[in-house]
Amino acid sequence: MENIRNVVIIGSGCAGHTAALYTARANLKPLVVEGHEPGGQLSLTTLVENFPGFPEGIQGPELIENMRKQAERFGAEYKLGHITSVDLSVRPFRLHISHEVIGARSLIIASGASARWLGLPHEQQLIGHGVSSCATCDGFFFSGKEIAVIGGGDSAMEEAIFLTRFATKVTLIHRRDAFRASKIMLERAQRNEKIHFLTNTVVEDVHDAGKKEVTALKLRNVKTGDVWDFPVSAMFLGIGHTPNAKMFEGQLDTDEDGYLKTTKYVFTRVHGVYACGDVQDRRYRQAITAAGTGCMAALEVERFLEEQGS
Ligand code: NAP
Repeated sequence: MENIRNVVIIGSGCAGHTAALYTARANLKPLVVEGHEPGGQLSLTTLVENFPGFPEGIQGPELIENMRKQAERFGAEYKLGHITSVDLSVRPFRLHISHEVIGARSLIIASGASARWLGLPHEQQLIGHGVSSCATCDGFFFSGKEIAVIGGGDSAMEEAIFLTRFATKVTLIHRRDAFRASKIMLERAQRNEKIHFLTNTVVEDVHDAGKKEVTALKLRNVKTGDVWDFPVSAMFLGIGHTPNAKMFEGQLDTDEDGYLKTTKYVFTRVHGVYACGDVQDRRYRQAITAAGTGCMAALEVERFLEEQGS
């Protein structure tokens, strides 16, 4: 194997960029494999108000771009593409990126988590035709239309608020009547006159795959059992995320929902392999905590490589 790196970082969200910055400044010349969703979740969000250092807030894509530039300034190298398989049983670790094989003396997994879908019969057929998990990407297409947002957490509130820029009406549909969202986000959504709430309600299907556009949602009230069609032009999902850890199945430990298990902060069960950010964090899942664990993983890599004499 010709291409052997001191450290390869899988993922280019907040955790990956921070790990890149630290390992680059330690002169380890990190290689960052950007992954399926370059920039991670911050690149799909709007105003970030809770990342310290920005008193007026900062747009997510700008924040993530700044992080990347900062890491590049110290020599971090970025590679478009995603890892298709890994072998952590050999040293250096073997990583397959399409047809290329890269060796890694140490590995930082910062592959994040991806938006979850409902699994409805016609959902996948309508993705890109009115079904979306990214309000900032697709909201614009539904100007002057009525839209539904599914979920009861901060993501759903944020999407609903953002979509009122375009939609005439946004209906937030949630399966319970209690909300997981933070008080401030929930109140902001409740104060918005364009947002209506439909609680104790689940989506059973989305129409109309035949026409290749969303025309209505089939809804069911979980208390009364009533089923009805609710006309909307789009359905945006804000129902959480699934960790991107499938490629490590059988090689690293995961919990029941697929999150990578770490001990002692960022250690996985393989010496020299560290996990940080949302792929291993089901509890906090914040940009700032992802950055923090990215830093921790980088510092562990430095120690590990020093011990190995690399
Ligand atoms: P979340 O907090 O896990 O909320 C997911 C929501 O989707 C829950 O209300 C859940 O319902 C619902 N849900 C999940 N699966 C469902 C299904 N199959 N059918 C119907 N509903 C379903 O996820 P999140 O909103 O993406 O937030 C994740 C983390 O990011 C949180 O820590 C959040 O604070 C943070 N975040 C912060 C901001 C911000 O501060 N600006 C913005 C976005 C996210 P139940 O409540 O019934 O489980």
